[in-house]
Amino acid sequence: MSRLIILMYHIVDHSLDATEAKYCCLPDRFDAQMHYLAHCGLPLVSLDQLAECRRQGTAWPDHGIAVTFDDGFADFHANAMPSLQRHGVPATMFVVTDRFGATNDWMHTREYPKRRLMTLEQLKDIHQRGVCLGTHTRSHACLPELNQAQLDTEIRDSKADLEAAIGDTVQHFAYPFGQYNEAARNTVEAAGYATACSTRSGFNRADVDPFQLRRIEVYGSDSLARFQKKLRFGVNDMPWYFTPRYYLKRVGQKLGLN
Ligand SMILES: [Zn+2]
Repeated sequence: MSRLIILMYHIVDHSLDATEAKYCCLPDRFDAQMHYLAHCGLPLVSLDQLAECRRQGTAWPDHGIAVTFDDGFADFHANAMPSLQRHGVPATMFVVTDRFGATNDWMHTREYPKRRLMTLEQLKDIHQRGVCLGTHTRSHACLPELNQAQLDTEIRDSKADLEAAIGDTVQHFAYPFGQYNEAARNTVEAAGYATACSTRSGFNRADVDPFQLRRIEVYGSDSLARFQKKLRFGVNDMPWYFTPRYYLKRVGQKLGLN
């Protein structure tokens, strides 16, 4: 059965403190992951390609992998873009359309470090270099807390903002904080997007709702081996039975070998 993995990243940089470490993938580690993707033999796809498959009624590339980034952090331009280009990995960046060139106020007002977001010039540059751009609302709003007029502003108007800014159509959306409800999901569909990414983990099978796509989050602490396991099993966190050494030990204990 056709299945697709969508990877989710936030920051490709050293962490500034412990609070954000989980969201920070070291540039060297990111480069090794992109190198692995480029050589693993699985099809690397963009969300635009997936939208086109759905429009044409054709199946997604089996075992396809898509790479996505949330928030539009400025480190992407310096640290992630070179690796993506060197390894030919397609990617989608979800941006907060009222915060170009500003900072991550939705995080640093909650005790996380302040980080710069890409300017419009940087966004246009990565778009020209092949990165697909999607929206992540205007203000990184928590959508279930909003009324319909506010949902329209954050979801529909952010699409129009970004399209006007880059001079291209915008087809993809990601729910801030991974939070959404039925009204938010339906507003995304009505606004004319082709897909929306959640933060629920798992594979995307052929029958998945395109407005509730699942993603696998890559943590800052993930080794290359753990990254490979995530791709294989389609989960964020490995249960004990996915850890071969532990598994073999348990089997050995049952057989009285150790
Ligand atoms: Zn976000």
